[in-house]
Amino acid sequence: MDGKPASEVPVVRVKDKDFSLSIGRKKIASAVRETARSLSHDYEGMNPLFLVVLNGAFMFAADLIREIKIPCELTFTKLSSYSGTDSSGKVRILLGLNEELQGRHVVIVEDIVDTGLSMEFLLEELQAFHPASVRIATFLFKPDAFIKEYQIDYVGIEIPNEFIVGYGLDYDGYGRNLSDIYTLVP
Ligand code: 5GP
Ligand code: MG
Repeated sequence: MDGKPASEVPVVRVKDKDFSLSIGRKKIASAVRETARSLSHDYEGMNPLFLVVLNGAFMFAADLIREIKIPCELTFTKLSSYSGTDSSGKVRILLGLNEELQGRHVVIVEDIVDTGLSMEFLLEELQAFHPASVRIATFLFKPDAFIKEYQIDYVGIEIPNEFIVGYGLDYDGYGRNLSDIYTLVP
């Protein structure tokens, strides 16, 4: 982390694997503030509806929304795609979207875009509700893993193509409570 010798980087055990500290809470907070600043500027007067993708984005969303300085609303959906540390490639909606999206300027709030498969699925599902516009705000983005074509409008931090936990993101349900982000030790 940030040029420290490997022996000094804190390691946590999550379930049955070791993860080493890769993004500290200060860097997280400043990336969240920066994203919120851009959104507050771009959506001035538009009453955006933030659509938070559960479970992973809950912590990012809670921090982001408190830094948004314009009138806005919040709603939630839930997708399922991962088990363990590998993408299953299948996406399902587990918590419904509804008509409140019609005519609204929707901002999808995600924890991480990896291959981009889940987000593509959600973008397609959203069309049925006729939003006025849809943009994506993801806290983390893995450009080397992304295999899709669509634009990602707001990115907090770009990261290498490695499996991470913390700040809402889990490994088999564990590690969401960590305030910093940790990378799987190979
Ligand atoms: P995608 O469909 O873009 O490949 O993956 C999207 C979802 O997979 C994310 O919303 C997140 O839940 C999960 N995911 C992708 N990469 C990681 C990772 O490095 N760590 C964790 N914990 N989840 C990830
Ligand atoms: Mg997610």
